[in-house]
Amino acid sequence: MFVNEFEMRKLMCEIGNRVYNRGMVAANDGNFSYKISPNEILCTPTGVSKGFMTPNMICKIDLEGNVLQSDGIHKPSSEIKMHLRVYKCREDVNAVVHAHPMYATAHAIAGIPLDKQIMPEATIFLGEVPIAPYGLPSTMEIPDAIEPFFNTHDAVLLENHGALSWGIDLMAAYFKMESLEFYAELSYRAQMLGGARELPAHEVKRLIDLRKAFNVPGKHPCIEKEGLCTKPEGISCTHDSDCKNRVCNCDDKKVKPAAKPEAAPGAELIARITEEVLRQLKK
Ligand SMILES: [Zn+2]
Repeated sequence: MFVNEFEMRKLMCEIGNRVYNRGMVAANDGNFSYKISPNEILCTPTGVSKGFMTPNMICKIDLEGNVLQSDGIHKPSSEIKMHLRVYKCREDVNAVVHAHPMYATAHAIAGIPLDKQIMPEATIFLGEVPIAPYGLPSTMEIPDAIEPFFNTHDAVLLENHGALSWGIDLMAAYFKMESLEFYAELSYRAQMLGGARELPAHEVKRLIDLRKAFNVPGKHPCIEKEGLCTKPEGISCTHDSDCKNRVCNCDDKKVKPAAKPEAAPGAELIARITEEVLRQLKK
């Protein structure tokens, strides 16, 4: 695929403007990257406000993090390791965005994942946003913490830190960040009004079917696990309804309400028959 690198650098600056102007980062925070060929990645420089970047400041690295090109002044983001882990594990991904949006980061700090199905767009395009366990920035702790979610998700909250999203291109990854922040703010405001009412199971299923029909790229926990309520490998979970780290609760919603009324009369009948048989045998 032909990619005009200068245009890509300009797009990175444009995304930087939007991230900064929307208050998704403060000062020099945040970083993003764009894979422009199988072994070339453009990434934002460290120590620079993302709202004040120029195309020449953008660094070019390989998949191992070696610098291929820079202006001699700027260095790649120190948090690039988590980006490289995404590229290593997800061949369909060509861009990664990291920011500290206010409401999403508040959820990451409060330990509240964005896993409720409360609005159609979020269910179709975003899926769920779990919380990856805390890791020290710029170390391998964050890449290790986020990897278990790659098979099922396209965005995570970083515990006590911020958010990370990825997609097929830079716009897709950036829009995921916008969407998850919008979702986080909605969730917060609904909480102020008494709590968000979740969509019923049959409506969630219809939205998942729509996502399939739209052929939306990326991963979605409800599709990857095909209705199974389960967690990514390596994360232990008791699976109860109060678990805040659940990946997907659609199976619970689908099965539990229907199973209860059916199971109860059957069990009651069996108990009555057993009791009657035992009573007859004792005679
Ligand atoms: Zn950060």
